Amino acid sequence: MKTAFIAFGGNLGDVIPNFRSARNSIEQLTGIHVTSSSLLYRTPPLGPAGQPDYLNAMIAVESELQSLELLTTLQGIEIQHGRIRSEHWGARTLDLDIIAMGSLVIKHDRLNIPHPQMHHRQFVLRPLCDIEPNWQHPDLKQTASQLLNALLLAGEPILPKGLVW
Ligand code: ADP
Ligand code: MG
Repeated sequence: MKTAFIAFGGNLGDVIPNFRSARNSIEQLTGIHVTSSSLLYRTPPLGPAGQPDYLNAMIAVESELQSLELLTTLQGIEIQHGRIRSEHWGARTLDLDIIAMGSLVIKHDRLNIPHPQMHHRQFVLRPLCDIEPNWQHPDLKQTASQLLNALLLAGEPILPKGLVW
């Protein structure tokens, strides 16, 4: 059993109902139990200009699945929620990324854990700090709250307060 952190992102359609539905779908999977949910943050888009703002959140799950099984399962849930893979970083209804699984390190062509960009992204670190600020990055040896503080000290503007979803 491992604790996995799953990041939710989306900027098309009814994002909040879609997030809730995806969280329910995850809860219903065999071998997975949702243990907590972060607040929900509104975030300016990365990548192609002219997209709507993103909403971002995170859940923690206890999972018996292998990491690649979890990835494949989450990709199925993305598709059920209208995800069409097109432009890199383009607008999407639902993106589910595995941010970390305990202290596991995986460098695979389909899966990198911890997510390679996580420590640069406030929209990942803020929700992770809601759930588990003392989680330690297995390569960088810093906690989620230390990584978030580093971004803020470097002058990144703080995201507005999150909402319960
Ligand atoms: P992105 O999340 O980078 O915006 P996609 O959701 O389209 O883009 O994912 C592209 C690929 O990233 C996926 O097909 C998946 O194999 C790979 N990937 C690598 N590491 C991870 C991870 N930790 N979580 C989710 N997908 C990952
Ligand atoms: Mg993704």
